[in-house]
Amino acid sequence: MSFRSKHFRFFIVLFLAIIVSAQSDAKPKNIIFMIGDGMGIAHVTAAKIVKGSIDMERCKVMGMHMTASADNPVTDSAAAGTALSTGFRTNNDVVGLCPEGKPLKNLMEYAHETGRATGVAVTVILTHATPAAFYAHHKARYHYDIIADQMIESGLDVMIGGGWNNFYPKTFTGSRRKDDRNLILELRKKMPVVTSYESLMQADGIRQITAMLDGGHLPHASKRDYTLGNLTDKAISLLNQNQKGFVLMVEGSQIDLAAHDNDMQRVIDETLDFDTAVKSALDFAVADGNTLVVITADHETGGLSFPYKSIEGNKIVAGKFSSDNHTAAMVPVFAFGPDAEKFGGIYDNTHIGKTLIELVKCDAEPCN
Ligand SMILES: [Zn+2]
Repeated sequence: MSFRSKHFRFFIVLFLAIIVSAQSDAKPKNIIFMIGDGMGIAHVTAAKIVKGSIDMERCKVMGMHMTASADNPVTDSAAAGTALSTGFRTNNDVVGLCPEGKPLKNLMEYAHETGRATGVAVTVILTHATPAAFYAHHKARYHYDIIADQMIESGLDVMIGGGWNNFYPKTFTGSRRKDDRNLILELRKKMPVVTSYESLMQADGIRQITAMLDGGHLPHASKRDYTLGNLTDKAISLLNQNQKGFVLMVEGSQIDLAAHDNDMQRVIDETLDFDTAVKSALDFAVADGNTLVVITADHETGGLSFPYKSIEGNKIVAGKFSSDNHTAAMVPVFAFGPDAEKFGGIYDNTHIGKTLIELVKCDAEPCN
């Protein structure tokens, strides 16, 4: 072996080592963050019993998180959404502010700084607490007029859900606004706004869109002729045009509403509808190879359990709800893709927000 070739081999090994270490430091290009509102372990169990296998099972990294808010062991969706979107706990009812009232920077705001596209796709009104935690900063989650104002200024590229009645002026039939502002017209100056599923599906060759598919929440999963998976596919295809990557938050919003109503069949339908979105996200992540998918809940709703003899074959005949409200039970986390291992273990809800932000944050300024 010659002197020259020894050196040559040394440099090749060094070069490969640098490439490997650079790759292991690389952050995922895209993040799809999925929240089953109110989805505890029992809700996932129910979906699996009925369907046999569910797409959430494709994730090989699992964790659990404690869902408490700053002022209550039993959180609401505003405080829980804030912990997941910012990495900080706040009081129940508060969106995107710390308990003292200071704005907390959220995952989407960090993503904008890196030039990524951002979006939300949900099955409730777009001003509801969970999506609002990804764009708004306000002390009261039910001040929908104010949250709608903040949504149209948020810079999100894709917004899919319900709730146009919070955007049309008070004179408009069905409006819930208290003023004469027409936020639909204001938003149309920035991007297309559509109000039907067909128009959303036809939208092509654009990078930004707001789709408000109902005046209020979207119909229940069993009463829609499209799934949250269809909405997620569309959101991904629009956002993925951005070469710097994207961050998308998808919410299976009505698992929570079904559990508040102690309606077992609706809990199953909504959890399986959420799982169609999980399939959409995981199929994209597999094909893309540089997308992290994190699936969790904001809290458990209903204190759901399956006592002895409550299950017959693949049917749940006597599931039991111990509450019509949220509970303090830990909720599951499933992760897939680069950096998925950061979501294994047991931790507080803030760990998820902090870790996602760390993964989208710029290492050095300026970053775009
Ligand atoms: Zn709830």
